[in-house]
Amino acid sequence: MKQKLIIGNWKMHGTFAQARLYLDVLLPKLPNKENVQVMLSVPFTLLSTMSEKTKNSFLKIGAQNLSEELEGAFTGEVSSRMIQEAGASFVLIGHSERRRLFHETGPQIRRKIEQALSAGIQPIVCVGETAQERQEGREKDVLRKQLQEALDGLSLENIIVAYEPVWAIGTGQNASPEIAEEIHCFCRGILKEIFGAGSDQVPIVYGGSVKDSNVAGFLSQSNVDGVLVGGASLDPESFLRIIQSS
Ligand code: PEP
Repeated sequence: MKQKLIIGNWKMHGTFAQARLYLDVLLPKLPNKENVQVMLSVPFTLLSTMSEKTKNSFLKIGAQNLSEELEGAFTGEVSSRMIQEAGASFVLIGHSERRRLFHETGPQIRRKIEQALSAGIQPIVCVGETAQERQEGREKDVLRKQLQEALDGLSLENIIVAYEPVWAIGTGQNASPEIAEEIHCFCRGILKEIFGAGSDQVPIVYGGSVKDSNVAGFLSQSNVDGVLVGGASLDPESFLRIIQSS
C-alpha cells in the first residue's frame, strides 16, 4: 500500500512560542503509522528549532521557499544549503502564492527544484490553475506547461507533486474529490510522458481548503497520495484530526 502524505503549510505564521506550544500538543499524539508520513512546512526562522525538537519523531520539517541561486549578492535570499543546514528535509516550490504575489516564473521554479535536489532536499512542486483558466477550459494546458517546465529532463527520484487549484486555496471552496481524482489522473499521464516507466512512484497530493471534515473524501481517491493543508494545519488539534483521518 502506498504511503499517504499529510503535509502542513504554515505560510507566514508562527512565533517561537507558538511553535513550542504546537509541538507540545502534536508530538505526543502523532500516530506512528507505516502508511502515513506527516510533514510540516514552516517559516525559515523556525527551521532549526523545530527540526531539532522533532528529530526523534515521525514529523518531517521543511521550508516554504528557497533561492534559485547557490550563494552570492542576493540580499534577503536563503539558499538550498542554508535550509538544509537548518534541518529542512523538503521544500515547497512554486506555491501559487509565490507565483502570484512574488511573480515567480516557470524557469525560476525549475532552477529552485534543481537547487533543492542538488542539496538532497525533497522538492514539493506545486501546480494549479486559476478560476479564470478553469472557466476558459484551459486547466489541463496550464498544468501540462507547469509540469513540463518544472520537471522535463529531471530524474523522478525524490519529487512530490502538489495539485493546488488556485481558486481553492484559502477560499473554503475545495475542489470535489472527483475533480481532484480526474486532475491527478491527468497529471499522472504527464508524469509518464516526462519520466516514463516508474513515474507511478511520484506522489501527487491535493491542496486547497482541506480540513478534517473533507479530508477522507480526498484520501479515498486512488490517485490522491495525500494532502497539502494550509489554514487547517495551524491548529494542532485540527491538524491531528486530519492526520487521524488518514
Ligand atoms: C496551501 O497553503 O497550500 C493551502 C492549500 O492552503 P489552504 O489549505 O488554507 O487552502
